[in-house]
Parts: sequence; structure tokens; C-alpha cells
Amino acid sequence: MPLNAVAVFGGTFDPVHHGHLRSALELVEHLSVDQIRLMPCCSPPHRGMPAAAAEHRAAMVQLAVAREEKLICDRRELERSGKSYSIDSLIELHEELGAGCSLSLVMGCDAVQSVESWHRWQELLDWAHIVVLARPGWQFPTTGAVARWLSEHRCDDHRVLQRERSGRILVAQLRPLAISSTEIRRLLQDDMSIRYLLPEPVLDYIQLHQLYK
Ligand code: ATP
Repeated sequence: MPLNAVAVFGGTFDPVHHGHLRSALELVEHLSVDQIRLMPCCSPPHRGMPAAAAEHRAAMVQLAVAREEKLICDRRELERSGKSYSIDSLIELHEELGAGCSLSLVMGCDAVQSVESWHRWQELLDWAHIVVLARPGWQFPTTGAVARWLSEHRCDDHRVLQRERSGRILVAQLRPLAISSTEIRRLLQDDMSIRYLLPEPVLDYIQLHQLYK
């Protein structure tokens, strides 16, 4: 059956944790999308190389979503060479899913602040909607090109994701969970437990492959 609405959640997932997973699950429910694709970035354009190899990061995402039908691990950025640009992934997804499917790119609010540095950022909305994950204490930029872009495209009715295929910016208020991959890597380096911050199969995978030591 053709899909009506799909969201894609990019990140390094180094490693994936319950902050990512809970957000993905809440987005499925709040936005009524058919699936959320967690898409590990192979070679991030805006930060140093992740600590774990892309294959390990994708394997952990795969384990983390295995029991959740609507959460999918999307490996496309591992299969492309060069920098992992979101615009390239959106164009590929648009071609695969067909012009009738609404596509959304999920972005942390931190990413919105620096979206101007993204490759072909002004074309993102030609291919997808953007769903921004709000965080307590965080604010949208109020001046400059990004502020204008936001005010032109912002929409507060999430049903637009079902009605239109691309071009809107929505803000999602989700349950804040104070977990980050940086903190998990730090705990592992300090020989501290990371249990309950991420799913058990991911914890087992990290131990088996001795990652982040
Ligand atoms: P790092 O600490 O290595 O920067 P991270 O935990 O922020 O990693 P990323 O893989 O960089 O995770 O993030 C992917 C996406 O998930 C980003 O859009 C980020 O804003 C979002 N995200 C990360 N942690 C959380 C969390 N606890 N709750 C909600 N969203 C999160």
C-alpha cells in the first residue's frame, strides 16, 4: 500500500538512546505519520567524524527499532560516498516514495539555528516539510534570513502534513529527556553504567564490540 506521510529523523546516533527513540515514537503519534525513518549520518558535514563507525551506529539503530513497527532504520547515507547532505537524502526519498507522499525532515532546535550553513538549505522545503523539536528555554531566531524563512513557512496545524506534501515548518513540543550521546560516551569512558539510558540490545552491542572505550 502506498504511504501517505513519512518523516525522516537524521543524526549521528553515536549511539542511539531513549531521547531519540521516545521523540520518534511521540512524533509518530502526534503527527499521524505512517513511519519515521531514523537515518544515521555517515559523514557529517558540520562536525568531526563520529566516535563509532557508521556500520556500528546503523546496527545499533536497527536493534533499537526492531520491535517498533513504525520506526525504521534508513541506511541510505551509508550507501552514498562523500558528505551526507540531507538535501540529497530528501530527493532520493521523494523519488522512492512518490510525489503523493508527504515527507518531513525532523530537526533538533539546535540545528535550526545553524540551518543557513546546510548545503542548499533553501531547497529543503521544496522536497519536505520541516518538523522542529522544541526544547524548554529555546527560542527561534528573530532576525536574519532564517527568521524570515521561518515566518514565511511556519504552520501550527499538524494536519497540514496529511494535506500537503512539502513546504511547511512545524514545531513539535515533545517530552524532554535529558539524555545525549555525548554523555553516554563520557560515562563509558569513565567506566560508569549507561543502563536505562538506551535499550538493552544496544547496551549489549556496545559491550560486545567494545565501543567508546
Ligand atoms: P551528541 O551528544 O553526540 O551531539 P545527540 O544525543 O545530540 O548526540 P544526535 O545523533 O546528534 O544525538 O541527534 C540526532 C537528533 O536527535 C538531533 O536532531 C537532536 O536534536 C535530537 N536529539 C538528541 N538528543 C535528544 C533528546 N534527548 N531528546 C530529543 N531529541 C534529541
